[in-house]
Amino acid sequence: MSGDTHNVFTVDLEEWFHMCAAGEAVAARRWPLLPSRVELTTRLLLDLLDDANVRATFFVVGWVAERHGQLIEDVRGAGHDIGSHGYIHEKAYDLGRERFRADLRESVRVLSAVCTAPVTMFRAPEWSINDRSLWALDILTEEGFKIDASMAPLKIVGALSYPRYPHIRNTPAGPITEVPPLVADRFGQVMPIGWGWGLRMSSAGRVLRAIEAANRAGRPAVLTVHPWELDPDPPRVRVPARLHFAHYFRLGGFRERLRDVLHGATFGRLGDMATVSAPL
Ligand SMILES: [Zn+2]
Repeated sequence: MSGDTHNVFTVDLEEWFHMCAAGEAVAARRWPLLPSRVELTTRLLLDLLDDANVRATFFVVGWVAERHGQLIEDVRGAGHDIGSHGYIHEKAYDLGRERFRADLRESVRVLSAVCTAPVTMFRAPEWSINDRSLWALDILTEEGFKIDASMAPLKIVGALSYPRYPHIRNTPAGPITEVPPLVADRFGQVMPIGWGWGLRMSSAGRVLRAIEAANRAGRPAVLTVHPWELDPDPPRVRVPARLHFAHYFRLGGFRERLRDVLHGATFGRLGDMATVSAPL
């Protein structure tokens, strides 16, 4: 990739049951008993990316990497970047400082066994670095991380006031680049058009127009998906309504819409992103 504006495609590589605070059915102690779908669904995603000649950044849950080392090696072997999505997939503000650092280190330990390059990119589960947990950026920087992609410019999980484009945040331990996911204004609301239900419900044309608008302003658009969003036969469990919507709303046809998006714009890895200059 050149230094021109290009967009970033990211994946949160996790199992379908990696939902935070979703109740007994998917509690962490039950994970080993639940059917694993991550091999099947990640390989579907790898095929889609390969077909569109897109190299992406995969934020991998350490718990998954520990059990599916070959899968992670295959992701890396296909030319994708590897970052951390935590070890046990808990929200940063629920972990607190000490457990956040321990969980981060555990994820790095596991990922380092399958990665040759140092792990320097992070995304917190469910966009959980926000005003309740800005200390997490200090810890990430202290632990040698260069890029964080955990702060969503959206009210429910982050704040509308957060910058919508990559920017530098200064911490006592040094600067860290913050890379937010793409949002769009629609019907007087801000919607996550580059991820989650917003990406799944939107036509490829609408997503591509939002990407083009960002690019015209000289900004990259950052998209993100989960392998479980491509599951042709997703396991169903009883979870709170909020999570049911986030997980199951409009999965049908998503693979086809995503293929059109991937073919309709230029995407690269986070590590290929042009240098970000403006400090916050
Ligand atoms: Zn996640």
